[in-house]
Amino acid sequence: MEELFQLFYACSEVSTDTRKISENALFIALKGDNFDGNKYAKAAIEKGAKYAIVDDKTVADEKTTFYVKDSLIFLQKLASYHRNSFDIPVIAITGTNGKTTTKELVAAVLIKKYNVLFTKGNLNNHIGVPLTLLQLNKEHDMAIIEMGASKLGDIKELTDIAHPTHGIITNIGHAHIEGFGSPENIIKTKTELYKAIQENKGQLFYNADDDVLKNKLPHSCPTSTYGTTEEADVSGEIIDLSPMLSFKWKSKDYSSPSVNTQIIGKYNFYNMLAAICIGSHFEVDGNEINSALVEYKPSNNRSQLEKTSYNTVILDAYNANPTSVKSALENFAEISSENKMFVLGDMLELGENTNQYHLEAIQLSKGLKLQGMFVGSIFSGLAKENDILAFESTTKAMEFLSTALPKDNLILLKGSRGIGLEKLIEIL
Ligand code: ATP
Ligand code: MG
Repeated sequence: MEELFQLFYACSEVSTDTRKISENALFIALKGDNFDGNKYAKAAIEKGAKYAIVDDKTVADEKTTFYVKDSLIFLQKLASYHRNSFDIPVIAITGTNGKTTTKELVAAVLIKKYNVLFTKGNLNNHIGVPLTLLQLNKEHDMAIIEMGASKLGDIKELTDIAHPTHGIITNIGHAHIEGFGSPENIIKTKTELYKAIQENKGQLFYNADDDVLKNKLPHSCPTSTYGTTEEADVSGEIIDLSPMLSFKWKSKDYSSPSVNTQIIGKYNFYNMLAAICIGSHFEVDGNEINSALVEYKPSNNRSQLEKTSYNTVILDAYNANPTSVKSALENFAEISSENKMFVLGDMLELGENTNQYHLEAIQLSKGLKLQGMFVGSIFSGLAKENDILAFESTTKAMEFLSTALPKDNLILLKGSRGIGLEKLIEIL
């Protein structure tokens, strides 16, 4: 297999999608549930790819198109080989919530001083991670790699490919329970990152306010911490959250003025501190760190604040799980605003305790004395016995809202992507 790695260095880039292939690319034929890349290898070459890697013997010609036993493993091994040819920091970011946001913030900070390669969008799995690493070139000073997990062993697989030297787990909560089987397995999976960093004699960053993370740390690793406690290497304090986050922070040789961000949510305070902690470790100037954070604007339906025709909407309809719903509701409760309401969509992929998690969200919203409504078949199923306003689908909710349209409200939209709550923006 290794002799075939050299094909990569004769090509311009790697592509796994013939619709987006560029001249001189190396096409790697992957298989999914509904497609077989081997079928497109010929088309890839016709469209300008220089070489193709396939795992179906019948399409290989051993001139431009080469057979390997498993194309996905080839992609991963090639990425690992390529990564190991660079002696640079590779920062891995995992956690139940806040990976992408933290990655974007860390990148925004480090870019002030370095040439940084970082995961595009949410390409954080066994295909996205190698594809990102294969973009490393001599110009890069470091890489930031988001790592997602939906079952035991996922993070180990990714750290074996990326060999991270630095790592951060944003938090450990409840998501993808279906794949993990149990909350304990989530902890096990996330801490696979700590093990890898320890083996690579690297550096860990962690939230000193988070007991789970603190107690799971291997003791022999150098660490830098962030949080509200004075003992943390980077300690911060929220100044305002209504709804934009302002805060200040200090480290042993820097004390910041008020940092007025364009981001909402208490949880983002920690994501920001994480970026500061990593930026400080890599000696980015304090004022430069602040300007990176102040300039940062979220996108992709993640904690976005939108002025709509009649209301102001906190759009957080990109994903939802018990941990992120809890932080979103608690944060919403803390915002001082006259009129506010939430629209909470179902949390998908939670496995056998789904109803329990949804019940807890209902109870939390009641405990926090928040007004609002619920959308999706799971919440709807719990509506009667819990005396809540619920709709089977976003379309049904839309019909209701168009007859009873709220005005001048601050509205939180939070739910799994599959529920599509962002559609409500049209009428709000
Ligand atoms: P994915 O698993 O889809 O890759 P992610 O971990 O990359 O998600 P983000 O996309 O950064 O997470 O954020 C998704 C949502 O999680 C946010 O909109 C917010 O509601 C919540 N969230 C973000 N950061 C935190 C945090 N530190 N703690 C708890 N919840 C958070
Ligand atoms: Mg993500």
